Amino acid sequence: MYACTACGAVVESDVREVATRCAYCASPLVDTKRAASAIDAVVPFRLSKRAALERLRAHIGDRWWTPEALRKLARRGQLQTDSVQGVLVPFYAYDATLRADYSARVGVHWERTETRQAKTRRPKPDKAGETIHIEPEQPQTRTKVVRETEWFDLRGSMGTQLDGHLVCASAGLSGERARALAPFDLGRAAAFDPRLLLGWSAELPSKARRDIDREAHATLSDLGRAHLRDQHLTGDVHRLRTVELDVEIHRVRLVLLPIWLATVRLGGAPVQLAINGQSGRCVGRVPTSIAKVASVVVAAVIAVLVTLWTRGDLPWT
Ligand SMILES: [Zn+2]
Repeated sequence: MYACTACGAVVESDVREVATRCAYCASPLVDTKRAASAIDAVVPFRLSKRAALERLRAHIGDRWWTPEALRKLARRGQLQTDSVQGVLVPFYAYDATLRADYSARVGVHWERTETRQAKTRRPKPDKAGETIHIEPEQPQTRTKVVRETEWFDLRGSMGTQLDGHLVCASAGLSGERARALAPFDLGRAAAFDPRLLLGWSAELPSKARRDIDREAHATLSDLGRAHLRDQHLTGDVHRLRTVELDVEIHRVRLVLLPIWLATVRLGGAPVQLAINGQSGRCVGRVPTSIAKVASVVVAAVIAVLVTLWTRGDLPWT
């Protein structure tokens, strides 16, 4: 519940919401007490609403697969947007140390050249039993490069530090979508100040902390394994045998990240799109033109038929 200082109205609020605008006079309202007790840092918006809409138009209009009618609307700037809202979305940022003991088989490729003497033609007896003499040819050799792999045992341990690993804490934004919006530059994060929330919509976490921690643990483990493969397993190929991975989390911060949420009417159906308010990266499924997909399939089939025809491989020719 907010009491608007501008018009005096008492505005009902969502349990998770800590910043909004007054429904009567549109003055920005912030629930400073609740926000201050939960939020550690805020990454401010860099992209204006106008710039966000521009990114949205480019995202829809520049895709060749978008239905032509929609592309034209997007290019002329006539997309029907139901809503565009700047939301400061809660994410937990984890600082962690990843350690692992591992054993693996590591393969190193080497190449050897195989040289073979090509068969030289021998004089063949003709029908009458006489021999025809053929000038002896130069002995022909054929070389072939053969790739071999030598395998070694490798054991070791690694340790690496990972700061600012983000996991979305809002139920409104799917994990998949939140990951697609990454990266965010946490170097731009400012310590919590209620003024940073003024005029925006801002939320507190709407997912259970236990679930977010579990997700963080799982994604950090994946990153640890990826780091191990990329940085520690030398050689051309490898097979991990055992990995004992330990994820130690030192610090967790609740950070609000700037995201533009837009609902756009694309051929009747409303489509939800999200835009990273820092980088402008746009995420959302834009409809695909069935006619365009069909034309590509038909063109591909024709290309295959033409190739077969020129080779004379068509069964009916
Ligand atoms: Zn008001």
